[in-house]
Amino acid sequence: MSIVIVGAGLAGGTAATELREQGYDGPVVLLGAEHHPPYERPPLSKGYLLGNDPLEDAFVHPREWYAEHDVDLRTGVEATSLDIDAHVVTTTAGDVTYERLLLATGAEPRRLTAVEDAGVPVAYLRTIEDSDRLKAAFGEGRRIAVVGAGWIGLEVAAAAREAGSDVTVFETADLPLLRVLGPTVAEVFADLHREHGVDLRLGASVTPDDLRDADLVVAGIGVAPRLDLARSGGLAVDDGVLVDAGLHTSHAERGTRVPSVLAVGDIASHAHPVLGRRIRVEHWDTAINQAKTAAHNLAGGDEAYDAMPYFFTDQYDLGMEYVGHGRAEDEVVVHGDLAGKTFRAFWIREGRVVAAMHANDWDATDDLRAAVASGDLPTLG
Ligand code: FAD
Repeated sequence: MSIVIVGAGLAGGTAATELREQGYDGPVVLLGAEHHPPYERPPLSKGYLLGNDPLEDAFVHPREWYAEHDVDLRTGVEATSLDIDAHVVTTTAGDVTYERLLLATGAEPRRLTAVEDAGVPVAYLRTIEDSDRLKAAFGEGRRIAVVGAGWIGLEVAAAAREAGSDVTVFETADLPLLRVLGPTVAEVFADLHREHGVDLRLGASVTPDDLRDADLVVAGIGVAPRLDLARSGGLAVDDGVLVDAGLHTSHAERGTRVPSVLAVGDIASHAHPVLGRRIRVEHWDTAINQAKTAAHNLAGGDEAYDAMPYFFTDQYDLGMEYVGHGRAEDEVVVHGDLAGKTFRAFWIREGRVVAAMHANDWDATDDLRAAVASGDLPTLG
């Protein structure tokens, strides 16, 4: 049985690895539009961007691994359309047939078109090349404007400050990360960046004139999943590729499950069996763990993916991990020292813990996972 994976990012690379580790020994083709073998993106806004970690550390495997494990990695090849009845993927380098197909096409940055149209160049951060461009622009006295105070925007701001740049961050919400964390914890991130000398401009839309003096404008205003390939095959799509608990796609018109095509990672709008609703998660951990379940199911298994979302960030001297699926309007209970940025926080909805995070409390992770799994707020120890 031949398995084709489209998208040689973290999810695609992990799926190929898992197929081999789980003992599948049939043909595996891994198609990637980028010229690199699969790599992890978190270092691009952290250790690699800061100049602390070498690029090699970001790769899922060295390039030789793929040939050594009989994985046919084809980089610089883009899949352009899909025929799910004929089981054919058309690519920029010819047609590829499959018996089982995994879509792992990931996401791309949303563009700041109004600013670009006004003649202000805007940089984005998704690839190694993007990270290199930012790193080259940072330095003592360089003026860096960041649009969007989400995870990527704040990590870029931190890296630019650590390189000595003057940094201004523009955000339409009243606090960074407000929609994800709610006001109590979002305030911690506002303080963190102000303490490190970032000029935070909150609660207002940025105009092209605000940005004209910057040496570099970086936009971190979210990503859009790449859905064109799934759409071309007639697969059901909303804000992601619709997949069931076991990550199988379905046909948009016929409404039937498509057992030969699975989707994972940033593109997957997943019917989460524990949460009882669809979620699409743009996180490193989900890309890895959905790929593991998908590998098992591609090779003939039938497992549901039921892990809770997990996320981490590092900014200056603050490291955090977050588990679960909270909302800004959930009640938040904090254990620890919010002002000192060493604490555990729990998001509570209808009396149950639905998400939990820690800041600089690295022993907390198992307790946080347990609280989200049980729904019970731990007693203050
Ligand atoms: P991607 O990594 O986007 O990979 C998809 C690949 O498919 C790409 O290489 C793309 O070129 C290729 N592709 C797309 N379409 C085609 C096609 N038609 N044909 C062939 N190839 C195609 N998450 C965290 O949890 N914590 C973090 O700290 C964190 N930091 C991040 C920092 C940065 C700078 C970025 C950009 C992301 C970060 N993330 C983080 C998110 C995390 O990296 C993503 O969730 C993860 O990369 C998703 O993996 P993926 O394989 O689904 O998609």
